[in-house]
Amino acid sequence: MGDANGRTVGRSMRILVTGGAGFVGSHLCERLLADGHEVIALDDFSTGSPANVAHLMRSSRFWLVEHDVTVPFDHEVDRIYNLASPASPARYQVDPVRTTMTNVLGALHALACAERHGARLLQASTSEVYGDPEVHPQPETYLGRVSPVGVRACYDEGKRCAESLVMDFHRQGRASGRIARIFNTYGPRMAIDDGRAVSNFIVQALRGEDLTVYGSGSQTRSFCYVDDLVEGCLRLMEHPVEVGPVNLGNPVEVTVLELAQEIVRLTGSASRIVFRPLPEDDPRQRRPAIDLARRTLGFEPRVALRQGLYATIQSLRAALAGAGEGARRREAALAS
Ligand code: NAD
Ligand code: UDP
Repeated sequence: MGDANGRTVGRSMRILVTGGAGFVGSHLCERLLADGHEVIALDDFSTGSPANVAHLMRSSRFWLVEHDVTVPFDHEVDRIYNLASPASPARYQVDPVRTTMTNVLGALHALACAERHGARLLQASTSEVYGDPEVHPQPETYLGRVSPVGVRACYDEGKRCAESLVMDFHRQGRASGRIARIFNTYGPRMAIDDGRAVSNFIVQALRGEDLTVYGSGSQTRSFCYVDDLVEGCLRLMEHPVEVGPVNLGNPVEVTVLELAQEIVRLTGSASRIVFRPLPEDDPRQRRPAIDLARRTLGFEPRVALRQGLYATIQSLRAALAGAGEGARRREAALAS
């Protein structure tokens, strides 16, 4: 049972977070622990890292399990957040077959686990299910324009199939599911080499390198701060009825060029902005319609882009300093 703030009332639950050592997963684990739950984070560390949850290891209510979701798993839990999947286009295209399998088999195995234990599942889906949309902003009723044979299909179609599995388990009365269609989310603990626009631009600005805007930079995205997303996910999970897919994101839309310019300003960097070829199938515009989330969950993003970018810059600055320190130590060890 959830209260209006997405908090679970009355009892502490045991919760499984697949992809729990990733960027979003680590923030979700942190919040669930703060709310008093027991949390099992399951991850193969392919794009995430134990370092993301190192600060949670002190808790006696937190467990980190190394496991690949393409292989069946079993944990007796009350809730499953299924987040395991690479999310950055640069990373999910490295091994596209594996990306498809992670999303399809991962969802199947998470649902089978939910079925066995009567657990409720939340599937981390994506705005990518809308592909390169002709409808703007995108409501949940829009069925999307996805290329099934393009370079992004491994991720887009993998996520679409995962949604289909959640709905079929629901229709067959096998497991109760929620689907969060997550729009671009950013924040502290994005990996230095993640490859997404926010982290790329910040890392480039902090290193004094050119910021690489793909295409003309006129394509748009809507960036949601991770704390707002986590709040939305909790509210959706604890909503008493299946409401079908729900968009979660921040509806403030900016061009990619505006994002780059804002990051140059906020970092005070002397970096230049340069233009590089637009990747294949790169969506031209993206903004969530969040009326359903507002109405049913009382969801409202609170963190403004500038404020969220500032926190992300601090985190990536510290990560870069740490990486520099690590490299210096390795060099010193080799030299001695
Ligand atoms: P991330 O890459 O930081 O985290 C994904 C985590 O899943 C990593 O820790 C990775 O090691 C793990 N993982 C990948 N394949 C796995 C496998 N086969 N078995 C076990 N673990 C595996 O990405 P993120 O931004 O934190 O994304 C989390 C989830 O949210 C993903 O499902 C992603 O598709 C979804 N999502 C994120 C965004 C966003 O903008 N951040 C947008 C839409 C959807
Ligand atoms: N992008 C860019 N430069 C970069 C990384 C990304 O211009 O170094 C663009 C990318 O082409 C896309 C937008 O920024 O138009 C958002 O990309 P991201 O990978 O963050 O997420 P996507 O929404 O494409 O999944």
